[in-house]
Amino acid sequence: MNHDPLPFTRPTLDEETIANVSDVLRSGWLASGPKVQQFEAALSEYLGGRPVRTMTSATAALEIALFAAKIGPGDEVITTPMSWCATANVIVRLGAIPVFVDIDLDSRNLLLDQVEAKIGQRTRAIMPVHFCGLPVDLDALYALAQRHGLRVIEDAAHAIGSAWGGRRVGSVGDLVCFSFHPNKNMTTGEGGAIVVTSPEEIERIEAYRFNGVVKPAPGELDVLFPGMKANMSDIQASIGLAQLARLDGFNVRRRALADRYYQLWRKSRPLAATARGDDGHSWHMFAPLLPLDSAGMSRKEFIGKMADRGISVGIHYPAIHLLTAYRQRGGRDGQFPNAERVGRETLTLPLFPTMHDSDVDRVVDAVNEILGR
Ligand SMILES: *Cc1c(COP(=O)(O)O)cnc(C)c1O
Repeated sequence: MNHDPLPFTRPTLDEETIANVSDVLRSGWLASGPKVQQFEAALSEYLGGRPVRTMTSATAALEIALFAAKIGPGDEVITTPMSWCATANVIVRLGAIPVFVDIDLDSRNLLLDQVEAKIGQRTRAIMPVHFCGLPVDLDALYALAQRHGLRVIEDAAHAIGSAWGGRRVGSVGDLVCFSFHPNKNMTTGEGGAIVVTSPEEIERIEAYRFNGVVKPAPGELDVLFPGMKANMSDIQASIGLAQLARLDGFNVRRRALADRYYQLWRKSRPLAATARGDDGHSWHMFAPLLPLDSAGMSRKEFIGKMADRGISVGIHYPAIHLLTAYRQRGGRDGQFPNAERVGRETLTLPLFPTMHDSDVDRVVDAVNEILGR
């Protein structure tokens, strides 16, 4: 049996990327400079011309987007309890209040028809996550936001290259944030970006990502507010330029691998709760709920048995409202049953562009064997 280590994800880096980084190092300009400008222009072009600004992470991008939308103490932001913790953390960090709404079990996306009931006097924004790269219904989302005069901050950390109704996520809508963490569909080492809506917001974002600094005229400097230090470096941007050029190819390969998982499992059906989605799914992760209960096995045991076979499996994610920081703010068991079930049962199986078809076969064989199928 093949026991070579198979991670659940791995970035695809080529010699051109490595050469790009060497060029930046040789240039002597490492901080935000020409490469960051080039990368922001390339992202903007990829997203249909809307302005884009880069950051050191999507966590920073989400916080800065909330700040740009003037969300602050006492404001409520409706979001999902099934995401990476950063989605809710940034809301709390600005003094605002995350108001959770449960998710659909298949798509893992916010149940938009339950959002309306949570909209109150202090609601200012909705922050959905396009889970695993499957976009939320953007037509329904923006119709809802418009009806109630709310901002939308899309956590599109999983969704670079995803599309809704033939239009790329980020090419339409309000503030849209991407992540370039090495696990995501494209990387800059660490990094993130915001698609911006107005020149006024560009100013707020540029200042907030760089200590609140503005330069009213050459040689003049002022600080408008105590900002973050979250500007991207030219090293990161040079990686991003090479990655963006290959992104659509990466996503085609991700889709083919996901298709293979479905094909191999068509008969034995050990997959529960995975939405296949339409053509716009970018397959950031392949995260089914497996029937561990009926196999009489704990998730921990299952992960151990996969590890024995050299296959690493991820967990994305524990439900946010049950984490200590959120229990302290009133999170309780039973509040969001779908998010909690996903939090307990989900497993992320290997899916990354350089995986071979035979790796998918190996994962499926291992799962079937462990579950006794
Ligand atoms: C990865 C991720 C983030 C944070 O991205 P970073 O670039 O690591 O800060 C936020 N939200 C979701 C849904 C993510 O998966």
